[in-house]
Amino acid sequence: MAREPGAAVYVAGHNGMVGSAIVRRLMSLGYVNIVTALHSELDLVDQRAVQAFFDRNRIDQVYLAAAKVGGIIANNSSPADFIYDNLLIEANIIKSSHDFGVPKLLFLGSSCIYPRLADQPIREEALMAGELEPTNEPYAVAKIAGIKLCESFNRQYGRDYRSVMPSNLYGPGDNYHASFSHVIPGLLRRFHDAREHGEAEVVIWGSGSPRREFLHVDDMAAASVHIMELDREAYQTSTTPMLSHVNVGTGSDCSIKDLAMAIAKVTGFTGKLTFDTSKPDGTPRKLLDVSRIRALGWESTIDLEDGLDDAYTWFVSHQADFRG
Ligand code: GDP
Repeated sequence: MAREPGAAVYVAGHNGMVGSAIVRRLMSLGYVNIVTALHSELDLVDQRAVQAFFDRNRIDQVYLAAAKVGGIIANNSSPADFIYDNLLIEANIIKSSHDFGVPKLLFLGSSCIYPRLADQPIREEALMAGELEPTNEPYAVAKIAGIKLCESFNRQYGRDYRSVMPSNLYGPGDNYHASFSHVIPGLLRRFHDAREHGEAEVVIWGSGSPRREFLHVDDMAAASVHIMELDREAYQTSTTPMLSHVNVGTGSDCSIKDLAMAIAKVTGFTGKLTFDTSKPDGTPRKLLDVSRIRALGWESTIDLEDGLDDAYTWFVSHQADFRG
């Protein structure tokens, strides 16, 4: 285990849900030299600006947690923004890391890289073995390109760039927009508002039958630092050099209907749930096989009930920021 608390660690996307959780995790482990840049100081889509940033800062490790993200409706309505921004962010950071000799980089992807109808639970080898889910295909293609960039720099230049693919993330710092968010923040907000306004029912998108695996962002941050800190030999005994990505999940999933009932409980909503089947269901099921990360010595620790409580507490204390 190579913990280097004095290393200069650049967390790209440090203001986002995942980046901020990684910063908290690094600080709790004693890392003292965390490098960040605000969006107003550094536009990651701008290649020259990114190169100049790496030239100015001597960086030892990069967590690539910057991305344009959104739920099923956001992805479906702005496909061009999702593919373009994400491709450029990844390409700029990975290439600059290589050019400026950064030895370690961790790219954060998503479980939507896997084929829509992959065998469940989904193993890392399922990548590129079938057609993607159309509602977020452009985003997924950008994330697959990020994995392939890492693999290609490893193959051609002997780099040690790794990728982690989480299941559906949630937690403090999430986007609680009413329509462009993911399902957990979207429903926490809807159920909360319905209870506050004494409404009799809450509408859930889709049929309620799709199944998803939800991972609290603090678990994701812990897993990310764990993978970054593994020695090269330890990481590569269970991931060949050509397969540089590893799944991060809890190992269990639930239906959207079960999730909605859990959220009703957390928010204290006692009315009726209805399902709007005019909204897309997306992939029928997305459960990751987590045997590889378990073999690498990491397991999730936050169960869904505790995690939802935590996310809801955070939402309640920040809801004034989410009236858009
Ligand atoms: P996905 O895993 O990429 O499909 O991500 P989402 O979190 O956007 O959606 C997960 C599932 O929850 C889909 O089947 C949605 O139709 C369903 N869902 C139900 N209600 C909501 C909601 O209020 N917001 C979102 N984003 N999804 C919802």
